[in-house]
Amino acid sequence: MKVIAAHNPDADVRRASSSGGVFSLIAEKVISEGGVVYGAAFNEEWKVEHLRVDTIEGLSALRGSKYVYSHVGSAYEDALADLESGLKVLFSGTPCQVAAMKKRAGERENLLLLEVICHGAPEPIYWERYLSELCNKLKRDITDITSVNFRDKRTGWKNYSFTVKFSNGKTFTQPHTDNLYMRAFLKDFTLREACFRCPFKYPEGSKADITLGDCWGITQIAPEIDNNLGTSLLVSKKETDCEFTSHVTKDKDLSFQDAVKYNPAITSTPALPANRDLFKTEAKEEKLLPVLKKFAGRPLSQKIYLYLAKLKHSLLH
Ligand SMILES: Cc1cc2nc3c(=O)[nH]c(=O)nc-3n(C[C@H](O)[C@H](O)[C@H](O)COP(=O)(O)OP(=O)(O)OC[C@H]3O[C@@H](n4cnc5c(N)ncnc54)[C@H](O)[C@@H]3O)c2cc1C
Ligand code: SF4
Repeated sequence: MKVIAAHNPDADVRRASSSGGVFSLIAEKVISEGGVVYGAAFNEEWKVEHLRVDTIEGLSALRGSKYVYSHVGSAYEDALADLESGLKVLFSGTPCQVAAMKKRAGERENLLLLEVICHGAPEPIYWERYLSELCNKLKRDITDITSVNFRDKRTGWKNYSFTVKFSNGKTFTQPHTDNLYMRAFLKDFTLREACFRCPFKYPEGSKADITLGDCWGITQIAPEIDNNLGTSLLVSKKETDCEFTSHVTKDKDLSFQDAVKYNPAITSTPALPANRDLFKTEAKEEKLLPVLKKFAGRPLSQKIYLYLAKLKHSLLH
C-alpha cells in the first residue's frame, strides 16, 4: 500500500478542488487516454447525482465535494456498458458506491475504482429542504442559483466556507463552522442511517484501487509544505496505479498510521448522536432551518466568547 501527501501543480484546479486536487489529475489522465470518468455532480435543480464525463472540460462538474449522498441512477449500468465496449473507466464515489460498482463489474483491467474517504453522507432530503428554505429566506428562487461550493477556499483550505452564488450577483457565504447545514453534517445529525454501521472502511471494507482524502495531518507532519491551499491524502493499493499516480506532485511519503491518526474516518464510523431520533422527529414536523439551529447551532456561550474575541482583536489592531 502506498500512502502519500500530494497536490495538483495547477493552483487554479487545486483551489477549485476540496483537498489537493489530485482527483482531477487522475481523471485527466484517464480521459486523455480515451477513457471516461464517473463522479458526483450537481444537476440543474442543485440535487447531486452521478454523471459520466468524457472531456477534460467536463471534469469541472465533478470537482469539489458535495456533502450529500449522490443519486447514482444508471451510472453503474452505463459504466458496465463502457467497460464491455473496451473503454477505460474511472468510477469515483463514496466507498459504498465504489464497492457496489466492483460487485457488478468484478476485477477488470480497464476499471479504476476511486473512493473518497467518507465521514458519512447526508440524506439528500435534508440538502433539498435546506437549499429551498435558504432561498426563501434570501427571497431568491432555486433557479437563480449559479453555483454552490461546500468547500470555498477563499477563506483557506482549513477555514473553508460554504458559498452559494446567485444570478443577480449576490453571494451567500459563511465559514463552515457557522453554517447550519455544515454543522449538522459534521455533528452527524443528517447522515444516512447506513453510515453509522458502514462496512466499507479500511482494512477489509474498502474495495477501491485509490482512496483520496484531505491530508489534515500535513500541518503537524510537514508544516513547511502546508500553504493552506489544500493537500490530498492518497492511498493506492495496486502496483499498476503508479501509472495513474506517478504524475501527481508528491509532497511526502506517509505511513498508514499517520493517515489514520489525522483521518479517523478511514477506519471508523461516526457515533450515533444521542438526540438524533428527536432531531429526526422535529425535522419531519417543522421547518428545517430552526431545527438545525436548535440541534446544531452554536451554543450562546460560544457565540459570546467569539464576539468578545473579535472585539478584543479589533481593539488591539
Ligand atoms: C460525503 C463526503 C464525505 C467526506 N468525508 C471525508 C472525511 O471525513 N475525511 C477526508 O479526509 N475526506 C473526506 N471527503 C473527501 C474530500 O472532501 C475530497 O473529496 C477528496 O479529498 C478528494 O479531493 P480532491 O481535491 O482530490 O478532488 P475534488 O475535486 O475535491 O473531489 C472530486 C471527487 O469527489 C467525488 N465526490 C464529490 N462529491 C461526492 C458525493 N456527494 N458523493 C460521492 N462522490 C463525491 C467526485 O466524484 C470526485 O471523485 C469526503 C467527501 C465526501 C463527498
Ligand atoms: S459512511 Fe459508508 S455507507 Fe455512508 S456514504 Fe460513506 S461509504 Fe456509504
